[in-house]
Amino acid sequence: MAKIMAEYVDRLINIEMRQMGGLPRGVTHALYEAARKFHKEPLTYLAASGLIEAVKPKDHVIIATGAGVAPWLPKGETDGPLGAAALARTIDLGLGGKPVLVGEARCLPPIAATVEAAGLLVADDELFGQRDHVAQVREYPLGEARGEAFASELLEKYNPKAIITVEKHGPSASGKYHSIMGVGRSPESVANVKFLVEAAMAKGILTIGIGDGGNEIGFGNIHEDVRRIQKFGSKCQCPCGAGIATVTKADVLVAAAISNWGAYGIAAMLAFMLKNPRLLHDKDTEYRMLEASIRAGAMDGLYTNLSMYVDGTSCETQLSLITMLHEIVTNGLSEQPRHW
Ligand SMILES: [Zn+2]
Repeated sequence: MAKIMAEYVDRLINIEMRQMGGLPRGVTHALYEAARKFHKEPLTYLAASGLIEAVKPKDHVIIATGAGVAPWLPKGETDGPLGAAALARTIDLGLGGKPVLVGEARCLPPIAATVEAAGLLVADDELFGQRDHVAQVREYPLGEARGEAFASELLEKYNPKAIITVEKHGPSASGKYHSIMGVGRSPESVANVKFLVEAAMAKGILTIGIGDGGNEIGFGNIHEDVRRIQKFGSKCQCPCGAGIATVTKADVLVAAAISNWGAYGIAAMLAFMLKNPRLLHDKDTEYRMLEASIRAGAMDGLYTNLSMYVDGTSCETQLSLITMLHEIVTNGLSEQPRHW
């Protein structure tokens, strides 16, 4: 039954509702279909079942997020931190795992505020080792050399059983990073989380890449499809000419209309498979997370201001999505016979 539930969860988190003239639209279904063809099974099922198998109580899970650069998104965007915080909460409550969130220094205030709004206190090493319902938030340094060294340091210190990336960009074939609109960025201006994911995959640690555009870690699984489907997939607006399609793979790619929704879909499947609807955060928590992220400086990725939006979709839509995911889980777990 879980695989069938995941069919509907996958569909719900892949409903695109984008404006004209801004973020590329009309591509969500095609990116999902390519990812689904690659993985053969519902994406949220693969991610949730992988986490259940890999993560035991007190195991560390590293969750990377943070997208956007100054001047438009100086402290990052609202898509990413909420999904990361929601999964951190589910991993703590449902699996007893210990979440470590990493991102660029500029994105840490919203990440920390969001994970606390989700119910997990940000803790230092001592407190983190002593109790549950806490999380760590750590800076992932900019640049390739420091990023590669930090990846080794993280794997050594935490011995994580899973690495999850939410809206975390991976490089194109040229080695450059790109925004969804094809604007090139030097690897020295971002956290090169690709090193963490590649090293984890080499060690057999579960990696899950969640994204919505094709330039995020995980979409390397369907690199050629992204080049074909996405507006700037094979041709960027910078001289490198490689396009935005990333080459960085993950064990499981979860493609969604909005990256946060991919994370919520995984949380919903964890709630269903562990038979506890509470493992998916409620809509009040969703509201609190969105407000906390904005108060800490995260901006909507389309409107680029401090409004209660995520990738151009309203707060009401986030709350409605959580309501529907909850209903899928709760109804799916309850028995209501009908005799006539
Ligand atoms: Zn380029």
